[in-house]
Amino acid sequence: MQPSSSPADKTRSAHQRLTELYGTQAIQGYSDPMHELVGTILSHRTTHANEVTAYRTMRDRFPSWEEVRDAPLPDLINAIQAANYPEVKAPYIQNLLRHLFQETGAANLDFLGKLSTEEAMNWLMALPGIGLKTATIVLLFKFHKPVLPVDTHVHRVTQRLGLIGPKVSAEKAHTLLLSYLPLDSLVLFNFHKHFYWHGQRVCTWYYPKCSECVLRDICDFYQSGGTALLSSTPTRKKPLNA
Ligand code: SF4
Repeated sequence: MQPSSSPADKTRSAHQRLTELYGTQAIQGYSDPMHELVGTILSHRTTHANEVTAYRTMRDRFPSWEEVRDAPLPDLINAIQAANYPEVKAPYIQNLLRHLFQETGAANLDFLGKLSTEEAMNWLMALPGIGLKTATIVLLFKFHKPVLPVDTHVHRVTQRLGLIGPKVSAEKAHTLLLSYLPLDSLVLFNFHKHFYWHGQRVCTWYYPKCSECVLRDICDFYQSGGTALLSSTPTRKKPLNA
């Protein structure tokens, strides 16, 4: 890859290398869009295993969404306590459900599949507590809409590589990265998954395993000695090559 390559060329090149590394996956998520929506709220700053435990406990104790909506708040907080910040997430979930029942008469998101991507995004993001990341996960994973979830791992890896600038927010990264990629839901799903996995396994928060990384020769962060200050990453505790 030439140093003068455009961000779009570099994005596609990095994606191709990670596709060779991790393989192409079929689009998959939870079986129910409501599970995807509420699971994404539970997953915030929480491991996948704890998100799954919190969701299962909640549905065991409150099998219908009406019961989740109407549960005494302390009981719902207790049910989802495997997730971090249950006292914040429980009111979010109940508020979201009240809004859904008021707007549509049910906790059912299937109608989103019939809306355009823009209409579905706008509808979801008008819900209380639903931001860009959650909306894009639901729409890509469940409805195969061509959007790109940028979570903390995708944000960090793409920023270290230099696909987006050092101060670009995750929200802005969504628009920028999307403009570099084909509007193809399978490509976007794999881009999200591959950068997510790479951030979890190789390009980790404080001590990225650059010696094992297939992107090292095109990575701005590595080439600069790992000293760049990036909006996606807190200050590291020791230099990259220590
Ligand atoms: S070379 Fe290092 S900093 Fe760059 S993407 Fe790979 S692991 Fe991350």
